[in-house]
Amino acid sequence: MLDTLHRIVSAVNKAPDLQKALSVLVNAVKEAIASDVCSIYLVDDASRSNVLMATVGLHVKAVGKVRLPMGRGLVGLVAERAEPVNVADAPAHPRYVRITDTGETRYRGFLGVPIIQNRRVLGVLVVRQVEMREFQDEEVTFLFTLAAQLAGAITHARASGELDALTTGTESINRFLAGQGGNAGVAIGTAVVSYRQSDLQSVPDRKVDDPDAECVRFQRAVAQVGEDLRRLQARLGEQLPTEDQALFDALLLMLESETLLLQTEEAIQAGLWAPAALRDTIATHAQIFDEMDDRYLRERGSDVRDLGRRILTHLEHDQPLPAEYPQKTILVGEEISAMQMAEVPPDSLAGVVSAKGSNSSHAAILARAMGVPAVMGVAEMPVSRMQGRELVVDGYRGRVYVDPAPTVRSEYERLQAEERALGAEVEEMRGLPSETTDGHIIPLHLNTGLVNEMHAEEQAEAAGVGLYRTEVPFMVRDRFPGETSQFNNYQRVLSAFAPRPVTLRTLDVGGDKELPYFPVTEQNPFLGWRGVRISLQHPEIFLTQVRAMLKADIGLGNLQIMLPMISSVGEVDELQLLIQRAHDELLEEGHAVSMPRVGVMIEVPSAVYQAEELARRVDFISIGTNDLTQYLLAVDRNNPRVADLYDELHPAVLRALRMIVDAAAQFNRPVSVCGELAGNPLATILLVGLGVDTLSMSVGSLLRVKWVVRSISRMRARQLLSVALRMEDAAQVRRLMEASLDELGLGGLIRPGK
Ligand code: PEP
Ligand code: MG
Repeated sequence: MLDTLHRIVSAVNKAPDLQKALSVLVNAVKEAIASDVCSIYLVDDASRSNVLMATVGLHVKAVGKVRLPMGRGLVGLVAERAEPVNVADAPAHPRYVRITDTGETRYRGFLGVPIIQNRRVLGVLVVRQVEMREFQDEEVTFLFTLAAQLAGAITHARASGELDALTTGTESINRFLAGQGGNAGVAIGTAVVSYRQSDLQSVPDRKVDDPDAECVRFQRAVAQVGEDLRRLQARLGEQLPTEDQALFDALLLMLESETLLLQTEEAIQAGLWAPAALRDTIATHAQIFDEMDDRYLRERGSDVRDLGRRILTHLEHDQPLPAEYPQKTILVGEEISAMQMAEVPPDSLAGVVSAKGSNSSHAAILARAMGVPAVMGVAEMPVSRMQGRELVVDGYRGRVYVDPAPTVRSEYERLQAEERALGAEVEEMRGLPSETTDGHIIPLHLNTGLVNEMHAEEQAEAAGVGLYRTEVPFMVRDRFPGETSQFNNYQRVLSAFAPRPVTLRTLDVGGDKELPYFPVTEQNPFLGWRGVRISLQHPEIFLTQVRAMLKADIGLGNLQIMLPMISSVGEVDELQLLIQRAHDELLEEGHAVSMPRVGVMIEVPSAVYQAEELARRVDFISIGTNDLTQYLLAVDRNNPRVADLYDELHPAVLRALRMIVDAAAQFNRPVSVCGELAGNPLATILLVGLGVDTLSMSVGSLLRVKWVVRSISRMRARQLLSVALRMEDAAQVRRLMEASLDELGLGGLIRPGK
């Protein structure tokens, strides 16, 4: 059964559109359960009914026509209860409704299971039998398990279909793709799909102007793969057993098969570029193998995909398509990375939409640093079909409108105008001190390192750098950067801000930040080898970095070193010894270095409970709320499935902050917050109330946060904090803070038009 289940799910996942997906599904299920009928109904929100979408066994002409209003019939019962309904004699059931159009009156056995996603019933999968039949437990659980796995595929296929419907105007004009706001703001622009090279599945659709030339390009790539294979075969020939040699022959046969070539060329002639045409042909061919009963033949599906990848690699090398970025580029992708964003000229990047990731992924953090509206975790987005479409990106509510209707577009243009007006007001904060109405100064620092460029005006605005993420220069190379190249990099930042303090964080890779030349494969990377855990096991990497930092500080004296991911005091002791060692060695070598201030990040729950012991050991404390929230709430910061559980305003996070601030106060150590919470105007009042000494944030947040600081007294902030600390959930805290900003006339900072 498990085998059957995998095959059905995989076939449905690969179907090019919803109708095909559903038809594959009903046929496969009918066969697996040996029933007389299998049908699928999907919920149509607009008409509040269950619509028959595909069937095998009932009258095909009823498809799309039979609509059962919500709550009607046994199908309605399944949807209403969101539970399976298994009845041996359906007509005898009180909820049974006689529908003649489908021809189902002669059937008695009925089993229906709901298809559910995110707690919402998407539809009902039904099997019927002419005779009385109570389906067995294994059959019920089989359908149930299948339905649970299909929800994603159906939503995805439906979203693709709706894209077409949207453009032809046959569906509701207000449909949007939902995700999570990654950075507030509105962008209107053109989608440019960024995909990982040599990843056939993620190749986006693009049009070609000269199909004949594109066909030639494709043929050339196929010929090159043929040559590669023959060369490999000749090289390995003698060492390989005969059956493996035959594999090469089989691959060559497949490569040169007419169907593969003709089908691809046909798609190219219809105007598609070769990589996308190839993507479709390979998918169809691989699927034929996937569905075969014989295990050996089924595995040939992966050979077909391998061929596809090889052809694609040649296509990419042959004529790498010059990436064209329109004036207002909305970068769209399966999982947009910081690197992909860095490839777009900053002036052209208007917005970011990523199918994976969440509000606290590093791509979202970078979007905030660049001031670009972003929506993350748009799981339903058919990425490959987005190229060139006009998009409205609503980073406030996490929505993406594809080819928006004129009314939607003009509504968002109005919001953009309001944003500009607000932006002008925010600008008035420039140059003013970050001071509460009762005279307390809260220095605002910058988080940087993810982007290189920063305008002098923005640098002038910050009281220092509270977090310089040193990872990027490590990530863009093919080996660890040496001491000199790191030295140059650090000296540039230190001197740009001197005499203001610059906090350089030691290497914090692992988790979602991978080094291509230092792969770490783990089941739970966020609980694994990350941050200082790597530094302690590779002191040579740490020492090189610290040496570069200390040397860069010579003559400036504004360096602070910060240690990430501390989970016990022993780590701090060891790392401090290493820093001392680097310092002493450099002195010995004749460099006039001095010992910098050293601090730790508190971003792991154990460190919260040992904040006193940590504070005693170091010069300052900085709270990394991004990780602290993920670890306190046990919610992966990158996982869109649980993104709505990730909330930095959770009372548990606030109480942890309280503990840290109190512990640091005992030893007179300054506390900064450098996680994204520090740049969130909703949290500013709480952080001021807590008595946090400095706030460190992305450049785009500086003036907004300053506006809040300048609008409130520390006294009032303390009162509001004590109310918030007594609250039981994040939603209550959020409402309290929204109301407080509204009261100050600052609601526009978090919601447009307020
Ligand atoms: C944090 O965890 O809050 C933090 C600032 O570090 P990063 O986001 O780089 O993990
Ligand atoms: Mg962190």
